[in-house]
Amino acid sequence: MTEFRFRGAVAPLRRPAAPALPSNVAGVVAALRPEDPLHCLRPATISAAGATFQAAFPGTTMYAVKCNPDPTVLRALWAGGLRHFDCASAGEVRLVRSMFPEAVIHFMHPVKARGAIREAYATHGVRDFVLDSTAELAKILEETGGQGLNLIVRLGLPKGSAVYDLSGKFGAEPAEAVALLRAARSHAGKLGVSFHVGSQCLDPSAYARAIALAASVIRESGVAVEVLDVGGGFPVAYPDVVPPPLSAFMDSIATAMAEAALPGVELWAEPGRALVAGGASIVVQVQARRDGMLFINDGVYGALSDAGVPGFRFPVKLIRPGSASTAETVPFSFFGPTCDTADRMEGPFLLPADVAEGDWIEVGQLGAYGACLRTAFNGMDRAGVVEVADLPLLETPGYVQAVQAA
Ligand SMILES: *Cc1c(COP(=O)(O)O)cnc(C)c1O
Repeated sequence: MTEFRFRGAVAPLRRPAAPALPSNVAGVVAALRPEDPLHCLRPATISAAGATFQAAFPGTTMYAVKCNPDPTVLRALWAGGLRHFDCASAGEVRLVRSMFPEAVIHFMHPVKARGAIREAYATHGVRDFVLDSTAELAKILEETGGQGLNLIVRLGLPKGSAVYDLSGKFGAEPAEAVALLRAARSHAGKLGVSFHVGSQCLDPSAYARAIALAASVIRESGVAVEVLDVGGGFPVAYPDVVPPPLSAFMDSIATAMAEAALPGVELWAEPGRALVAGGASIVVQVQARRDGMLFINDGVYGALSDAGVPGFRFPVKLIRPGSASTAETVPFSFFGPTCDTADRMEGPFLLPADVAEGDWIEVGQLGAYGACLRTAFNGMDRAGVVEVADLPLLETPGYVQAVQAA
């Protein structure tokens, strides 16, 4: 398999040259004593989460590549049986196609560059495109010639209960969506409706409400529709959040589909976070301590962006090779390595009271929206990557945990 890697200003994650590293985070840290952030990928956890979701979801599961496009992550999902990928750019389409000639790629960004549409269609065999305007429909038809397309109309949703509300940017109003379905019908093999409830959605009924809205749009349109895509947004656990189990979301979707009575409509989903969040931790090193403030070697311009303004609390664990701490646990906040005062992470992050300069901290649940958000700001973009087999710091209810390696 050939690999395409994004080429940008950010230094790629480096694999340490050390032979035969241990297969758990603490062992790797003891062996490497890393001074740069170290990304610890858990491919078995990612495979298990992908397989769990596919077994629970009564339709086609595609992975939202933007969440973590690392080739190791994509391979782990493929190993877990995943064959469909939600891509949002020519770069993502190229990456997935270069790794998996047989993958089904869905181009799910409602506003695409013309060149990206052309390349996806002509070079990479993409046939599924999303749209939320007549201008985008025209663009897709012009750039592809219109043969063999499956077209999905993205429906906007009223403000919901997700941590990240995405309702303001994409999606057609119901009346507009009705018109788009009618306009797209004759150009589409499969015609569909999609929505996205927002990321880290903790309310299963949000999917039911969105399905009911989509069903009313479909009925109003008077045209046959073959696909209903319920988007992503499925949540994972964080220290202050135990989400409803996956089954609660699946039950809500199944009940809403039964009530909507849409015969012949197949379901699609586009999860990102839920498949990969548990699949990576980042080990950071403490460079200074001032009371409850820990200055660490990664921050909001690195892989810890979501710990900044979005205020995510990630699970943490002290790693001190050779001497475990027995101190009681107290709250700390983190300060990132760059010179920007905004490079701070409030937490609170609960760690032993004696944490000190030189200690390492494993920060968990960072397989989603972690590595992909790194920048080279302040010249601080060096980071390593290893694969481990121990369990993630937190379990998300409803997902099969990968078996812990001995
Ligand atoms: C980001 C995104 C996803 C994935 O969202 P998660 O919250 O990570 O599951 C799915 N669909 C669309 C359209 C997105 O923009």
